[in-house]
Amino acid sequence: MSSTKPGRNKPCPCGSGYKYKFCHYAIDTTKPERPTKNIFNISSEGHELLYSLMNISRQADIPLHELCMENGLYYFKDITIAQWEKITESFAKDSSSTMKLLQNAWEETNDAEYFNRMLENCSNISPLIKKREKTISQIVTSHFSEMYEIAIPASFMVIEGLFREYNNISFEANQGISYKINLEPYENTMLYADMSATLYFTKFLNKLMTGKPGDTSIHRNPVMHGADNEFPTKRNSLLLLLTIFEFARLETSLKLWPPKPETKDGKHFLNGYEIKMRENFNPK
Ligand SMILES: [Zn+2]
Repeated sequence: MSSTKPGRNKPCPCGSGYKYKFCHYAIDTTKPERPTKNIFNISSEGHELLYSLMNISRQADIPLHELCMENGLYYFKDITIAQWEKITESFAKDSSSTMKLLQNAWEETNDAEYFNRMLENCSNISPLIKKREKTISQIVTSHFSEMYEIAIPASFMVIEGLFREYNNISFEANQGISYKINLEPYENTMLYADMSATLYFTKFLNKLMTGKPGDTSIHRNPVMHGADNEFPTKRNSLLLLLTIFEFARLETSLKLWPPKPETKDGKHFLNGYEIKMRENFNPK
């Protein structure tokens, strides 16, 4: 198998005309080990079905992850199912407009209400987010006031702080940071979609948080050292906000999984945490 495996950037052997990584790569290479731990307390048929569904969902997203990586971005999942359908449909026909559609979807879906509600939900669950709640709230305000000069450097500060604390990297020791997320808990709880997403997220972050002057996409070092004067754009600012919230999502997902929803006195709870839901949302 490995000797005949095509190169990721070579045409897929199925003849679709797509690069292998955008086509059968996900199906050929990413099936995880079946977990032995059955945390769901369901029948073996139910366990089997759940496992297949998780695999299907993860495999469907891998080509989009690859496409985003090729464009120096991360495939943020903060889009609606309707947008996701439109994007995957376009991707199957012609991938050239997919990045544009994805960026439009991110802009459309992620309004101030979304970020503020997510911030409240995540602060409620994660002490790492709670500690930075005020800063993140001011970043959201700056972003939606088009103050990208303020929002972007502050976002880099939050991202670095989150990862230093998450990975116990002290500032005094002046250790280099690796923007890593521990995969083991996701494997144990069968959150395979998050597991493969974190691998892409790690790659994206390590690229985003370094960089040299003259780079065409946004990177931490040229911005924070004053060498990049082109950085204050809406797109860059949104990208960093989504990066903060992707970390928040990963940081909280394990505490919310497997979900045990509850409604009491008109309030919604997930595994004991109060969760504010989106209301009256009608994206185009
Ligand atoms: Zn193929």
